[in-house]
Amino acid sequence: MIDLKNLTIKKAHESFLNGDFTVRQLVDEYLKVINEKNPTINAYLEIYKDIDEQIKNAEKMFTDGTATILTGIPIALKDIILFEGHIASASSKILENYVATYDSFVVEKFKKQGVIFLGRTNMDEFAMGSSTETSAYGVTRNPYDTSRVPGGSSGGSAAALAADMSLASLGTETCGSVRQPASFCGLVGLRTTYGSVSRSGVIAMGSSLDQVGPFGKNVNDVEILFDAMTGYDPKDSTSINDEMRLIKKDPIKKRIGVPREFLSGEGIDKDVLKNFEESCDKLKKAGYEIVDVELPSIKYSLAVYYIIMPAEVSSNLARYDGIRYGLHEDGKNLYEVYTKSRGKGFGKEARRRILLGTYILSHGYYDAYYNTALKVRQIIKDELALFFKDFDAFITPTAPSLPFKLGEKLNDPVSMYLSDIFSAPANLADIPAISIPSGKTENGLPFGIQITAPFLREDILFTIGKDFEKLV
Ligand code: GLN
Repeated sequence: MIDLKNLTIKKAHESFLNGDFTVRQLVDEYLKVINEKNPTINAYLEIYKDIDEQIKNAEKMFTDGTATILTGIPIALKDIILFEGHIASASSKILENYVATYDSFVVEKFKKQGVIFLGRTNMDEFAMGSSTETSAYGVTRNPYDTSRVPGGSSGGSAAALAADMSLASLGTETCGSVRQPASFCGLVGLRTTYGSVSRSGVIAMGSSLDQVGPFGKNVNDVEILFDAMTGYDPKDSTSINDEMRLIKKDPIKKRIGVPREFLSGEGIDKDVLKNFEESCDKLKKAGYEIVDVELPSIKYSLAVYYIIMPAEVSSNLARYDGIRYGLHEDGKNLYEVYTKSRGKGFGKEARRRILLGTYILSHGYYDAYYNTALKVRQIIKDELALFFKDFDAFITPTAPSLPFKLGEKLNDPVSMYLSDIFSAPANLADIPAISIPSGKTENGLPFGIQITAPFLREDILFTIGKDFEKLV
């Protein structure tokens, strides 16, 4: 029996080297847990059929001496990241049988290192949601309490890891879809700097906001995964080039801001705030100066996000016309093919956002909504850039509430959207942020703290994160 609960990437790697267990033995343990728990949790939509081949390849790397720290590490993949020859459906009916014709940049990088992809995980349809309830393939349940949601949209990837059905997992973020489920499932989750990880081969939601991000059990695992997936990619025009990545970085100042006004809004759980204050005290103990700061524009982030994102969604999802990809419905004419295929293929939330986005971008409203939102996005970016001259980071809770009950917010989209309140500034400003477990309630539900750092300063998140982790 392998102690999966306490296993980390580093420990697994050492065990492979010491001969404590083999890649195959480890994968078999995970498959056993998947068999037992997945029928209830529904984290995986599919377990890949070529795992055996993947194991052989990883074992060969160990005998060849080409193995890296990620060789043989079993990982879960969000159903939105292309893996050649395997279905990627974005948990939508419209892509139900879509088989990826090429590898995404991240999968290509991980494949080279001999990572084992166990299967594809459930998510909110096209990554739209905060609970993994908008999937066309059923809800995913939170392993800490199966009457509650795991968060979203990468809820399947978070639940797979939290239930010991994988050793790490990959998700994507447009606004909080890695951090919020990480918080709800007691994990570390990273939103990466925009452009640091290529979007090539990742099904698009909001292209100016989307990024792939890793989940791990601790900060070190997330750092290992991030290092393996970041890099310039000429196939993504927004990928950050090597020259920019090498710009000299300021040393850490050990000063962290708390945007007080942002935390005083309605709808934030008292328990969440109390846990947050305790986390601030822990950081003080670790030698950080914690300062109340004013960041007056970030309170507009969520409103700005819910203009820019649907605008981009409506344009990105226009490609699903029933002809080129996925589901096709016959019709009397082309128009009917479009309407029937799209009507049948998209769920309620996807349709809501396509409609909103189309309205926002329509003649007469474009300036009032979309262009105004772009201007405010720039103000938020500028305000944060100024703030980061004196500070390493700012901190907030990751989510305003604890994991909520299944069905609780599903029919109240605005209350669901409010789950993203603390996530939005990082996505709009293209900067990295991390969620780290910060304790549990008496009933065992996890809390998370979010740290947001400047552009390309994931290193700051890892440093503060590791210091914090020691004190929880
Ligand atoms: N909750 C966000 C939304 O519904 C999550 C999007 C994301 O990060 N993919 O838009």
